[in-house]
Amino acid sequence: MHISGRFAPSPTGPLHAGSVVAALGSYVHAKRAGGTWRVRIEDVDRTREIPGAASQQLEQLGVLGFHADGDIVRQSDRGHLYQDALNALIAQDRAFECHCSRTDLIAQGGIHRHCVAGQRRPDPAWRLRVPAQCTIQFEDVLRGSQSQRVDECVGDFVLKRSDGHWAYQLAVVIDDAAQQITEVVRGADLLDSTARQRLLQQYLSLPTPTYLHLPLLLDDEGKKYSKSLNSEAITAVNATRHLQQAWQILGQEAVPDDAQLPVEIWLQRAIDRFEVHRIPTDSVQA
Ligand code: GLU
Repeated sequence: MHISGRFAPSPTGPLHAGSVVAALGSYVHAKRAGGTWRVRIEDVDRTREIPGAASQQLEQLGVLGFHADGDIVRQSDRGHLYQDALNALIAQDRAFECHCSRTDLIAQGGIHRHCVAGQRRPDPAWRLRVPAQCTIQFEDVLRGSQSQRVDECVGDFVLKRSDGHWAYQLAVVIDDAAQQITEVVRGADLLDSTARQRLLQQYLSLPTPTYLHLPLLLDDEGKKYSKSLNSEAITAVNATRHLQQAWQILGQEAVPDDAQLPVEIWLQRAIDRFEVHRIPTDSVQA
């Protein structure tokens, strides 16, 4: 079977130490297996997008020596595919139009179990109907058996938002299938989303990739690392240092780095040394 991995940044700012961990982890995991590695810009949420961030991220990936196989895909070009998937779910009576507001759902702990909207709104959302007792189980390559009661933990989740934006959960499932991704390697903050994605794959009869959730990099306050607070911007001069830092977070044995290797050669050495079982599962403080 041909292996294909991917890195799927949201263009909400420049890549930072946490994103380098996800890029490197997904890259070496796919390349070690002789697979391809794709890049997808997850710009489905236009409200969070920082203008120019996507091109900056692609430039930074180049500086780090990551070269994507195939074309770079942008979710903003793919609304028609998400609409087709929503139509298929509507036809199966698994998706429904929802007029509930956040305030309406407070009494249910913010979880949608059935519609409680006081009034119809001009801009309804679309949600997936999650059946009672809906347990999704899957194996994480690193963390072993995982299970989530989707109806209890998440409820009927949003597929298309009331502001007209497609939800990440739907877009990611459609794109992973369309791009024939066989392994999803990403940060542990998305472990909790995987059951929803597996459920959508079942309903849409899509293949299920394997999942591996990498250790999360935390900032000084113990929150998911999101800004380059203490870290320097990635440049050609410090690229290897950024890679080494991510490599260490991935628990791997140091890559010999004699005489400032070109990043591509450093990466090849990393691929040769990569051992998946060395990756820790605990979060790491930056
Ligand atoms: N776009 C997501 C992010 O930047 C990653 C989604 C994924 O890998 O499934 O956090």
